[in-house]
Amino acid sequence: MSYTKRPDGRKFDETREIEAKVGIIKRADGSAMFRIGKTIALAAVYGPKELYPAFMQKSTTGILRCYYDMMSFSVTERKRPGPTRRSNEISMVTRDALLPVLDLSKFQNTVVDIFINVIQADAGTRCAGICAAAMALADAGIPMKDLVSSVSVGKVGDKIVVDLDKTEEDYEEGATDLPLAFMPGTGKVTLLQLDGNMSKDEIKKALEMGKKACEGIYKVQKEALKARYKK
Ligand code: UDP
Repeated sequence: MSYTKRPDGRKFDETREIEAKVGIIKRADGSAMFRIGKTIALAAVYGPKELYPAFMQKSTTGILRCYYDMMSFSVTERKRPGPTRRSNEISMVTRDALLPVLDLSKFQNTVVDIFINVIQADAGTRCAGICAAAMALADAGIPMKDLVSSVSVGKVGDKIVVDLDKTEEDYEEGATDLPLAFMPGTGKVTLLQLDGNMSKDEIKKALEMGKKACEGIYKVQKEALKARYKK
């Protein structure tokens, strides 16, 4: 059966409502909130700071560490606190999605820590976390070549859609999730994962739709950064 209508009435290429705010955690060197629909991610950046133990230091560059977590109360069925294989994997892909835009070459022997906490989850949390983290890094004044904007695209039933919510991810006739991240300035892809099945042509279409959605997300991120430094 054809998938004709999204549960919340969105068009197939439409994201949920987006909101972003920079500078939300005063003690952090940089911080941001990114909300897409009911998914809310907070990010805090500390550093660059000297890295200990010293044997982990790199004499040629600073390093980036990422910690993604979902709060116990972020989902209806309480999530056990603490790291899981899933959170470790998301921390790793988040770091890899952000590293290409950073220039840590002037910060030898240091570390930049990014903590991402999802306070409300309704799918797309890794993408929301990446959007928040990119803004928090910019807020911390870390030299960056570009920002990173991220969204999940995928296939629900027979349709390619942008920004699946949890109801769509759980669609009983099958859903595929394809989280993406782009550097908006160059259009380079920094994250591409696939959970499910899609043909080559469908992936191409999903990439195009994701890129377009990321252009909209980038505008919101940019506005939030400007608002922080206005006045
Ligand atoms: N989820 C959950 N409990 C968990 C992990 C995930 O309820 O322990 C939900 C949550 O809404 C999350 C969604 O499942 O956003 C999809 O998780 P996935 O691993 O696909 O990553 P995400 O789409 O959040 O990046």
